[in-house]
Amino acid sequence: MPDVFDKCRTWHAYETVVTAGVYPYYRTLTDRTDATTVQIEGRQVLMAGSNDYLGLSTDPRVIAAATTAAHRFGTSCSGSRLLNGTLTLHEELEARLAAFLHREAAIVATTGYQTNLAIAALLGRDDVVFADRRNHASLVDAIRLGHAKHRRYRHNDMAHLKELLSTADPAAGRLIVTDGVFSMDGDLCDLPGIVELAQQHHARVMVDSAHDIGLLGVRGSGAAEHFRLEEQVDLVMATLSKCFGSLGGVLAGPAEVINYVRHRSRSILFSAAMPPANAAAALAALDIIRTEPERRHRTLDLAEALHNGLRALGFDTGRSVSPVVPVHIGDDMTCLRFWTELFAEGIFTNAVMPPAVPDGQAVIRASLSAQHTDSHLARTLDAFAAVGRRLDVIPPIPPSTYQ
Ligand code: PMP
Repeated sequence: MPDVFDKCRTWHAYETVVTAGVYPYYRTLTDRTDATTVQIEGRQVLMAGSNDYLGLSTDPRVIAAATTAAHRFGTSCSGSRLLNGTLTLHEELEARLAAFLHREAAIVATTGYQTNLAIAALLGRDDVVFADRRNHASLVDAIRLGHAKHRRYRHNDMAHLKELLSTADPAAGRLIVTDGVFSMDGDLCDLPGIVELAQQHHARVMVDSAHDIGLLGVRGSGAAEHFRLEEQVDLVMATLSKCFGSLGGVLAGPAEVINYVRHRSRSILFSAAMPPANAAAALAALDIIRTEPERRHRTLDLAEALHNGLRALGFDTGRSVSPVVPVHIGDDMTCLRFWTELFAEGIFTNAVMPPAVPDGQAVIRASLSAQHTDSHLARTLDAFAAVGRRLDVIPPIPPSTYQ
């Protein structure tokens, strides 16, 4: 008789990688000093693979806010926002995030993933959603959960988006959904192109600013502000688990839309509310993001230096404009070896494999935070150079030194 567990017995991908000694996932942090330094399985390593882009998760002010909230409200909301789980902290956070994002209203959910799932409530049978092929998995899942038709356009390809919009049912409601900064490549969406097409084809626009809130734009409110297109974007989603050093997500937009989502989204209705400590941490982080712009400038400067340094060594780093620096390796096994050797050199990065990226396009994803020093940057580059040469990913002599 077939057994639902059969697939687990016949799945050997994990075993193969563990046997080869190159398994990079679920590595255990035994201690954490700050955004730059962690102990993994007893070894101290430089953290170059975290989304704590501003280094706020260990900021004393953020920790103090979280601790005070835990003492005041306990460690859990013990229920959903709808029933018993709405705190003054959530309401304050929503009001302040709505103001920061220049929106009428906002709702926070327990994770960024759930925040994106919440948009499923907006995707009815008579609607069509147009999504960039490289959008984050949580947006893909939100669309699967909704009832709208799903049209995927090639990454940042406005001609393709135009074609899909032109051939869609004229009676359908339309939503274009894109990451602001794409999570694997660190590149920006073509928001001016998207907004122009949205206006021509009566579509609404939603931007997932998970990787750009706190970083891009004059005030640091993300991609829409960066492009000066805040008015033309209808919905902004962002996570609080990256620049905010906390956990949770926010969806901001017109008051009637947010009120509808608040009452109709299953990922919000049927899950416990964001814990008090996380809401308070996000509020404290928002103050810091608003008042200490030098942090985001440092993060972006370091990212640019990392990007340029890697490119000078001969690596292909794509078109990143964010702290997400992808180093294109290609073959899965080479990527896993690369990760393992970097780890042996004392540098922790992320190995990103299919299905997070297309087949044959595995990348090492590196990110430094505002707390990293120039010497951390130099150590990271030295390790990449040594491993890249050893594994023949880059030439023995940097191309920049050729005459
Ligand atoms: N959107 C994007 C673009 C992301 O990169 C992520 C997280 N990697 C999420 C949403 C989900 O956010 P969270 O981790 O807070 O659930």
